[in-house]
Amino acid sequence: MDRKLPNLKVMRHPLIQEKLTGIRDRRTGVREFRALLSEMAALMAYEITADFPVREIEVETPLAATTGAELARGVTLVPIIRAGLGMLEGIMRLVPQARVGHVGLYRDEDTLEPVEYYWKMPQDVAETDIIVIDPMLATGGSCSAAVSKLAEAGVQRVKVLCLVASPEGVGRMLEDHPLVTVYAAALDDRLDDRGYILPGLGDAGDRIYGTT
Ligand code: URA
Repeated sequence: MDRKLPNLKVMRHPLIQEKLTGIRDRRTGVREFRALLSEMAALMAYEITADFPVREIEVETPLAATTGAELARGVTLVPIIRAGLGMLEGIMRLVPQARVGHVGLYRDEDTLEPVEYYWKMPQDVAETDIIVIDPMLATGGSCSAAVSKLAEAGVQRVKVLCLVASPEGVGRMLEDHPLVTVYAAALDDRLDDRGYILPGLGDAGDRIYGTT
């Protein structure tokens, strides 16, 4: 845990770190990038759900009855369009029962503040465990706006999942939403003057969708 960023958990699992290195590599093309991203998302989902509560259920094996477990609450995945969509399939492989709420935000070039253009959540979102998916936590503006709107909808259990976070983005989340934990594969150095994370991996959306 970083002393100044108590809201951040960096996932240091060797497989996550190896795949992140492939994703960062400028030579990695679209096909390989998507595959690595999907594998990383599944590994990160495994870690981020580790403390989700379960309830006991009865199950009959071919030989006897026994006690098993199921997730006690529903799960809602909330990808921030567009890069967040790139991690969705990998997470849904592990949590196939999850519902998906989509968030579309763009940055107003004058105010630099996020403006919402799309919002669609499951009706009972407030009763579920939420994972907001924002692969590049740069300024943190979009992520913070999404979490604020979820809080207005009565949501209490939110985690944020990123590939790479900047100190600025995690700091903004700490200021705006001190009780929300940010999970990332790396905390990078800083933002450049265009708001890109350094060293980062470039524009995640462009690299997922081949729009460079
Ligand atoms: N969004 C990206 O895709 N990359 C960054 O470095 C910052 C924001």
